[in-house]
Amino acid sequence: MSKKHILIVPGDGIGQEVTAVGKKVLDRIAEKFQHEFTYDEALMGHVAIEATGNPLPDETLAKMKSSDAVLFGAVGHPKYDNDPSAKVRPEQGLLKMRKELGLYANLRPIKLFDELLAASSIKPEVLKGADILFFRELTGDIYFGEKGRKNDGDTAYDIAEYSRFEVERIGRKAFEAARTRRKKLCSVDKANVIETSRLWREVIQKLAKEYPDVEVEHQFVDATAMLLIKDPRRFDVVVTANLFGDILTDEASQIAGSMGMLASASIGDGTGVYEPIHGSAHDITGKGVANPLASVLSAALLLDISFGLKEESDAVINAVDQVLKAGFRTGDIADSTTPADKILGTEAMGEQVLKFL
Ligand code: NAD
Repeated sequence: MSKKHILIVPGDGIGQEVTAVGKKVLDRIAEKFQHEFTYDEALMGHVAIEATGNPLPDETLAKMKSSDAVLFGAVGHPKYDNDPSAKVRPEQGLLKMRKELGLYANLRPIKLFDELLAASSIKPEVLKGADILFFRELTGDIYFGEKGRKNDGDTAYDIAEYSRFEVERIGRKAFEAARTRRKKLCSVDKANVIETSRLWREVIQKLAKEYPDVEVEHQFVDATAMLLIKDPRRFDVVVTANLFGDILTDEASQIAGSMGMLASASIGDGTGVYEPIHGSAHDITGKGVANPLASVLSAALLLDISFGLKEESDAVINAVDQVLKAGFRTGDIADSTTPADKILGTEAMGEQVLKFL
């Protein structure tokens, strides 16, 4: 039996609707496997700015730090999207959360459910069976180095920096994950031209000696971009730097067809944060039609990664699979062949997952 404390941070827009479903799934797992999960809830994003003037109030941060894991929704509001000059913004909360919790690795599993093969723009025969786990470094690279202008503003520069320590800590997480999967690791860089990539490759090569059971491949980022579309099944775990990861994970999300199906985890040495990859989707907020499965799959990731409860996590993924096999869809993953009575809203979709669990 595990005793764990989970902080629910729904955030804005459909974050509120989908996170409620994710929480119910965690509750059902606790009941089914006899764990004791306790919960608290906290504000972040636009709702937090409205209530306190701060997108990540100290109280929320303190609760995050003292929890065993955070189930997060999304932050964002059209008010800020249309006003780029707004000084206080929901996404400042996200950046502060990553910094304060030391979240240096972003994990994004790209797993395709057979029933949704048709939703992808890639041919089903190329895609069937694809199952990739991305590790994107989150705290270094060109995003955080010195940047500026010179020559009267006509020349701009951004300095990319990585330390051995930064590469090694995410490398280790990726090797450990590969060990629990198909034991293949693809490290992506541009070591033919970029110095930080040469350090990256050197560190991964050294680490590889500690994991002789994992087959390691080094790939240039341009080749990876091509191979993800051409032959996604060749990948198991992929580890890469912040900028390359930013681009490749968005490319890979399209392999899976819909945003409403993909979960992510941000982890460091403390509390892990689990969230759908989609945003607050104000175009559908309050309509009860948001697909809650990305939040449900975020809960599955939380169980696996933060709590080490693999069987419980698999039970959640299996329930999602069963729901899809039974033909149930939310609007975003339905197509012209879906019967009207199988198209469900957020809550009804959640109920189906609970039923299969
Ligand atoms: P979005 O992901 O919110 O929505 C993109 C499109 O996908 C919309 O048409 C939406 O209706 C649809 N969609 C997204 N999730 C869905 C779901 N679960 N079910 C059904 N349809 C779904 O991205 P956006 O429109 O670019 O951004 C909206 C707001 O979200 C912005 O304020 C943005 O800053 C914020 N955002 C936040 C995060 C985050 O919190 N991590 C990530 C991305 C965007």
